[in-house]
Amino acid sequence: MAVALITGASQGIGACIAKRLAKDGWDIAINHYPSDGDKAKAEGVAEECRASGVRAEIFAADVSSFDQCAELVKSVKDAFGSLDALVNNAGITKDTLLTLMTEEQYDSVIAVNQKSVFNMMKPTIKIMMKQKHGAVVNMASVAGLYGNPGQFNYSASKAAIIGMTMSAAKEVGARNIRVNAVAPGLIKTPMTDKLTDEQKAKIFDQIALKRFGEVEEIASVVSFLLSDNASYITGQTIEISGGLSM
Ligand code: NAD
Repeated sequence: MAVALITGASQGIGACIAKRLAKDGWDIAINHYPSDGDKAKAEGVAEECRASGVRAEIFAADVSSFDQCAELVKSVKDAFGSLDALVNNAGITKDTLLTLMTEEQYDSVIAVNQKSVFNMMKPTIKIMMKQKHGAVVNMASVAGLYGNPGQFNYSASKAAIIGMTMSAAKEVGARNIRVNAVAPGLIKTPMTDKLTDEQKAKIFDQIALKRFGEVEEIASVVSFLLSDNASYITGQTIEISGGLSM
């Protein structure tokens, strides 16, 4: 069975992607942040994946650490025997205005959201090159396409991911490896629960479909991009925002 590794999959969009890919028939490697709370949630997600009749295991790693990512990818390959799909989903926000942003707020968001994609893709792509196949989906954001006030650090990290996706796609396309990104708009998750009602009302105004997205609506596009139905799509960033940018 083909194996998919999803980072930051203990909750939110990552957990939903793991469950959707399990339904699609992928064996699932669930990465979670190394904390007791995240481990417990990841175990719950793994149980739900197994209900689809596939194998699902959890793996602790902080994706901002180059060494922990190398160890994570090796552990998944050792445990499952192959690694056919990678979803770089883990991400954080530390929102504040540029003039108030601390160096720590900038550096930590870049490390978790952006450098993690390098940390994860380097060892994964080596495996996929030997296998002569593979697919990667990186989690960008509309903030990386259009910017967002209060998200200088986050927008930087997500815009970088779009460039990294195109560069990697060009490097590895001849090896039968596809690399794409998705750029969600506002999706109902613990990350967006933090917004005030006033902030939400302002945002609805700009969305053609007049609602937040559901995590399943991201998972279904990731499922498509990893599948053979997307066999001639690489280097693309698919916006999933209910028509936010029109
Ligand atoms: P979330 O906060 O619910 O989930 C993020 C996950 O990443 C959590 O499981 C968390 O434990 C994990 N994580 C954080 N730091 C980590 C680290 N150092 N190592 C390993 N795991 C780590 O958020 P979400 O809304 O599900 O976001 C998932 C992805 O989607 C993120 O990359 C986010 O930027 C992106 N995104 C979300 C939205 C949205 O509206 N929710 C919009 C655009 C993009």
